[in-house]
Amino acid sequence: MSATPHTMHGPSARLAPFGESIFTTMSRLAVEHKAVNLGQGFPDFDGPDFVKQAAQRAIAEGHGQYARAFGLPETNRAIAAAAQRTCGFEADPEREVTVTAGCTEAIAACLLGLLSPGDEVVLLDPSYDSYAACVAMAGGVARRVRLEGPDFRITRATLAPAFSSRTKAILLNSPHNPSGRMFDDAEYAIVAELADQHDAIILSDEVYDAITYARPHRSIAQIPGVRERAVILGSLGKTFSLTGWKIGWAIAPPAITAGIRCAHQFLTFCAATPLQRAAADALSSVCRDDSYLKQLHSEYTARRNRMLDILNEAGFRCVEPEGSYFILVDAVEAGFPDDVTAARRLVVEAGVAAIPSSHFYDPAHPDHRWLRFAFCKRESTMLEARRRLLANPPRRLAERAV
Ligand code: GLN
Repeated sequence: MSATPHTMHGPSARLAPFGESIFTTMSRLAVEHKAVNLGQGFPDFDGPDFVKQAAQRAIAEGHGQYARAFGLPETNRAIAAAAQRTCGFEADPEREVTVTAGCTEAIAACLLGLLSPGDEVVLLDPSYDSYAACVAMAGGVARRVRLEGPDFRITRATLAPAFSSRTKAILLNSPHNPSGRMFDDAEYAIVAELADQHDAIILSDEVYDAITYARPHRSIAQIPGVRERAVILGSLGKTFSLTGWKIGWAIAPPAITAGIRCAHQFLTFCAATPLQRAAADALSSVCRDDSYLKQLHSEYTARRNRMLDILNEAGFRCVEPEGSYFILVDAVEAGFPDDVTAARRLVVEAGVAAIPSSHFYDPAHPDHRWLRFAFCKRESTMLEARRRLLANPPRRLAERAV
């Protein structure tokens, strides 16, 4: 007997609560309304020539077949060397490094490879949208802790109650998307102590490690005792302005790596071979000579200051980022009822797209205050956004009835 032809198909019960990603939605609205897109965080400028040329060479030389599942040997080596430079720890390239299709796949591989059904994962809201979705796909349970803006500080009082005998992992992100916070050692120590007490794995998404303003990046793995229970997640995309290449990695002790690799081999098997070769060149080159990273830092500092000026001039109260390429502004203080209304009215009426950050919260406890602007953009893009925001000042929009 065949299935009834009227069955409605759609997302699984696990994914049904998630729907379309807010980045996809806002980028679509930006195109529809010919808006300047300061929503989805991708640079509107290209990555460096030396990295693109390395990929072109790799393709021309014929590196067109699968790579070793956990990474080309030279890529694993370059990632380990880069981690030593940025995070100050030794990693065994063969036993502790896994190359993935972007950090998003690394997060998925960690959760699918390490969680058993019902295991709990602590998330710090606002948290990147893929975290809760991947916990759900892995059959885990997200325990979401809300960090209150504008400080977004981790405190023992808010974090401790989220841990229990069911806690398998905590997933954190520093520099933090969307707040721009860089957690300090006192906050890291709270995480480390609770993880230690509950024997939990610390998953640390550090993809914005090269984009910092307040001070140089520090990995939670630099806190004594953390490295043996930590997975350090990174990627090429932000540092080299090549988000579409989707080259990421996970660095973890061998036992944890075994779980990650097991999931990774069944998810993508391996990341794109020629791009892995180019990634190896890119990472080795910045280990030899940091002039590219210095230039990246000075360019992003200028972009950050420019965007803060523009948003202040437009009348927004901003959260000054310590790292990352995002700025949160207070939509409610600007007169909007919430961030979603602000984002909709700005994209339609002012022609500027931003991300309503309530999508980064537990749907049961969202904070509707924060609107996120991305400034990984050319000067001309930011100036066009300025022109539009000054022509339609947000406060005036908020006062005007729809
Ligand atoms: N990381 C990017 C951001 O936060 C978006 C990536 C995506 O579109 N999934 O804007």
